[in-house]
Amino acid sequence: MRPRLEVERPSTPELAPGLRGLTPFRQGKSEIPGHMNPIKLSANESHHGPSPAAAEAYRQRSSELFRYPDGAQVELRRAIAEVFGIRAEGIVCGNGSDELLQLLIRAYVRPGDEVVLSRNCFAMASVHASAQGARIVYAEEPALRPDTDSLLAAANAETRAVVIASPNNPVGQYLPREELMRLRRGLADNTLLIVDAAYADYVVADDFDTGQSLVESGSNTVMTRTFSKLYGLAGLRIGWMYGPPNVVDAVARIRTPFSASAAAMAAAAAAVRDVHYSEFVRDYNNRELCRIEAGVKRLGAGIEFVPSFANFYLLHFADSRHTPEGAAAALERNGIIPRPVGAGGPAGCLRITVGLSHENDAVLRVLAEYMGG
Ligand SMILES: *Cc1c(COP(=O)(O)O)cnc(C)c1O
Repeated sequence: MRPRLEVERPSTPELAPGLRGLTPFRQGKSEIPGHMNPIKLSANESHHGPSPAAAEAYRQRSSELFRYPDGAQVELRRAIAEVFGIRAEGIVCGNGSDELLQLLIRAYVRPGDEVVLSRNCFAMASVHASAQGARIVYAEEPALRPDTDSLLAAANAETRAVVIASPNNPVGQYLPREELMRLRRGLADNTLLIVDAAYADYVVADDFDTGQSLVESGSNTVMTRTFSKLYGLAGLRIGWMYGPPNVVDAVARIRTPFSASAAAMAAAAAAVRDVHYSEFVRDYNNRELCRIEAGVKRLGAGIEFVPSFANFYLLHFADSRHTPEGAAAALERNGIIPRPVGAGGPAGCLRITVGLSHENDAVLRVLAEYMGG
């Protein structure tokens, strides 16, 4: 008999290597001690709430809670396809776009593979890529928007996936169509380009492309969308992706069939069909953005409004007496919750969600006091 080797065995189940550097997600603050009804401007939620038609569709599902959802997602996929003029077969719905992003990364990224993340893409992208054991390379955004040159410099023939958010978060700037096309042309054909278009619903600009045209003209680009932002359904967890047949097939192999709940899909289908309501929310948001920009400009030097195409904006503090931390504290003393920009985000900035007009007025009042004081 050979002598037994003494192998040191772990005394608890061993964590997958990709998880070792991760820490649990911490949600933005939603309470301030001493304030009964704080104005929460930290999570880019839609303060209009969903379309009344969506809320009604949700209520109607309450009599059928014992039934499984339609795993083929026919009704919601049809509604999205009709409203956006796209192919229903290219759509997959999921438990927020976050789930779809995770599925895409799991489907295409193996341990040790390289994944390129644009600096201001969705924070969960790095979690999903790390969990998969990927080597993450960040592409900086020197102009505060996804940058084709830095993405192409970061990627190589071995890059499995490139993830951008357009508009990005926490800035709200998009990659213009020509630059998106140049990015795709410069990437290897076998690199999956994931365009997270969570804030696309807010953008009104001739040179904006959600990624839809690349999805339809090739086999290596996929776009993710959400009902969490403009459609006001963040609490229901419902998002969708639009991809070419090979990518849809890949995701279909691993997705859990019922992650999009019946009530969420019913509400989302009604929401997307209520085009008047979405236009109202979009136009309201964009008017408020202009108004806030003008209001911040009146506060003079020391504070700067960073242009945004989404339902949030960055304030940049440019002198030593005024800081994002100081402004955040002043806002919180007044019952308003902003979102500090995490490590890796643009320095010296504070992110604030566009709220209803009286909420935005409250922000401007506090900022005026803070900058004047
Ligand atoms: C809010 C947000 C999403 C949406 O995530 P859901 O899982 O659909 O709620 C996606 N990407 C970015 C950049 C976001 O800020």
